[in-house]
Amino acid sequence: MLAVTGTPGVGKKSVAPILAKVLKAHALDLNGLAISDAPTKEKGEYLVDVKKLRAKLLKADPSESVVFGHMVPEVLRRGEAGFVAVLRCEPGELKDRLRARGYPPTKVVENVEAELIGVVLDACLRRFGPTAVHEYDTTGATPRAIAGRIASDYRSGTIRKGPWTDWTLDYDSSTKLTSLLSSPRTEPAST
Ligand code: ADP
Ligand code: MG
Repeated sequence: MLAVTGTPGVGKKSVAPILAKVLKAHALDLNGLAISDAPTKEKGEYLVDVKKLRAKLLKADPSESVVFGHMVPEVLRRGEAGFVAVLRCEPGELKDRLRARGYPPTKVVENVEAELIGVVLDACLRRFGPTAVHEYDTTGATPRAIAGRIASDYRSGTIRKGPWTDWTLDYDSSTKLTSLLSSPRTEPAST
């Protein structure tokens, strides 16, 4: 099984179907699976029962699939996914993507913050171990190019352990951080 994960907005849904096509596999959407039987909603968000989702996934026989979703490190266990592609995106670009997608400001900031500190990467490293984890920067790259890189690493059995992306190194001043995490994005004042 190959898994594709990352913060919402990094491009999983754009990349995974192309990747599946290239590898002649099925693309399995964890979010789609999670909401397929009307889960509880709280404050407009789905409350996903991880146990139930895992049971549904295993029933779908995912061994030959490209499984994608931000919940990959919660749902899958070590050894189940031999190759975990974590998609990354420069936080400022991620903010633009999420805003363009019409996400409410609080959700935008929440996800930008998660990408900034690498929540999903960290969860994957702990869950699957560094040799299973592969990182791809989607900033300024097309979904097709990303899918191509993943397919080629997957086929060649490349192990590329770190160094892992740390966006906080680029947001090294309070001015930059405040601007990134404010909503809406503060544009430089025009004079
Ligand atoms: P995810 O499934 O990780 O939430 P999506 O594939 O739904 O991400 O993409 C989120 C948004 O970003 C969409 O509006 C999509 O068109 C855009 N997007 C996805 N991949 C890229 C990319 N490589 N470059 C620019 N925009 C992208
Ligand atoms: Mg999505």
